[in-house]
Amino acid sequence: MTRLRLGIDVGGSSIKAALVDVDTGAIVGQVSRADLPQPSTPAIVIEALLALPATTISSGPIGCAVPCVVRDGVTLTAANVDQSWVGAKARQLLGARSGRPCVLLNDADAAGIAEVRFGAARNLGGVLFVLTFGSGIGTALFVDGQLVPNTELGHLVLPGVDATDGEDYASARTRSQLGLDWPQWTARVNRYLGELHRLFWPDAVIIGGAVSEHFEHWERFLDVPVRVLPARFRGHAGIVGAALATAI
Ligand code: BGC
Repeated sequence: MTRLRLGIDVGGSSIKAALVDVDTGAIVGQVSRADLPQPSTPAIVIEALLALPATTISSGPIGCAVPCVVRDGVTLTAANVDQSWVGAKARQLLGARSGRPCVLLNDADAAGIAEVRFGAARNLGGVLFVLTFGSGIGTALFVDGQLVPNTELGHLVLPGVDATDGEDYASARTRSQLGLDWPQWTARVNRYLGELHRLFWPDAVIIGGAVSEHFEHWERFLDVPVRVLPARFRGHAGIVGAALATAI
């Protein structure tokens, strides 16, 4: 029998949800999407999540990925969402409002879980990064398939670069804000990946987020000493991983 679970991904610009077959990682039916509500406080975002069609038609556990460090259901940072997420008992709030068991985790960690379990990193051991390029840069670190949770390497400061941190310099949001073409943006990705490589020496890097849907447009401009692969689940890895997290 198919085991379906609800996966939700809260991002810096949108919220998305879908039902996922947790034995294959396949999304079943439509992905529901809405703009991230403003202000993006936990209470307002949770109301919006509960109104998404994929949420209303489903029952059972909810896996929810958020762009925050998460420990024991409490969100401890808030880089691209309202500051009131810092210290919020977000899992408890979502559980109380939905009446459903909830698992809460960092969005890049969720994407990483999907890619390691069923995606581009399925047969890869060693030290791996799954990165998501969107409003920020999310990072998930795996050592022989084991997640090291809550790495925040999107905030790595790049020496000699005129930007606050790696995500300010090379995120997909920065690409569209500055109108960078693929070669210009990939040059920034090279600089960022070069720094990650200098510090961690990963065996491979998987790149997710909506930009991975255009991998063939920028792959040829990559110039880094590490194997780079596009995420299998592309921009939906967070949804899939959030759903999988309820079934671990
Ligand atoms: C946040 C991370 C998140 C990433 C991608 C960063 O700004 O600090 O927690 O994973 O954005 O959304």
